[in-house]
Amino acid sequence: MLTIKNARIQSTSFRPRTEKVDTLVLHFTALDLESSLRILRYGDVSSHYVLAEDGSVWKILEDNEVAWHAGLSMWHGRPNVNGRSIGVEIVNLDANTRDYPATQIAALIELCTTIITRNPGISPRNIVGHSDIAPKRKDDPGRKFPWKELAEAGIGLWPTTMQDEPVGTQQQIQSLLEACGYPQEHAYGIKGGGYVSISDPANPPDGVSNVVMVTTADILRAFQLRFQPESVTGIATPATMGILRRLSTM
Ligand SMILES: [Zn+2]
Repeated sequence: MLTIKNARIQSTSFRPRTEKVDTLVLHFTALDLESSLRILRYGDVSSHYVLAEDGSVWKILEDNEVAWHAGLSMWHGRPNVNGRSIGVEIVNLDANTRDYPATQIAALIELCTTIITRNPGISPRNIVGHSDIAPKRKDDPGRKFPWKELAEAGIGLWPTTMQDEPVGTQQQIQSLLEACGYPQEHAYGIKGGGYVSISDPANPPDGVSNVVMVTTADILRAFQLRFQPESVTGIATPATMGILRRLSTM
């Protein structure tokens, strides 16, 4: 049985929600529990929940409040995922190399189930990792995250049957990625200490530095991080194509 402790935010890093919740975003903290709670409650980022390694849950914000967890982000062609999402921060120092304890994942499944029950607008396709909605910029919840186990518990999508398909053109791959919800190719930079999206990377607006291009290969890498964590190459194989096609029609 999940016990949720109250750890109300102490900063102003949130706002009242005006859009309907339709997305759930999962992260890892890259910090221990104490540091995570300090930053998410007192710092300039926030989340709705923090999930400790032993399965205990801290609630920082209410569903009807917007947390600052996703940053520059896009899903299904819509930017600013924070406005319509719930954010869960899972304590793990680097889940690209460190497993999530079974107790923590069991608690996560319970927590996600309560969130989805309260917010039925969250479809399975809209249960995403930070890396899905901010490719190249973010790599959490990491290649060790057990997406298949979550999908088997009714949380998020996982392709059950798949078969190899011929490798398509970059354009076909990009279209399939977008059909799954992934962003278009895009560019971003830094302005005033924060990330901003840029429409013309050759002529970034005044004051924008560190311009980064996010290409189909980068977006495919985010997809592989989740669905083919053993081969995060940015290059599609027949197996990648099979998973893309299956997922795009689920
Ligand atoms: Zn994150």
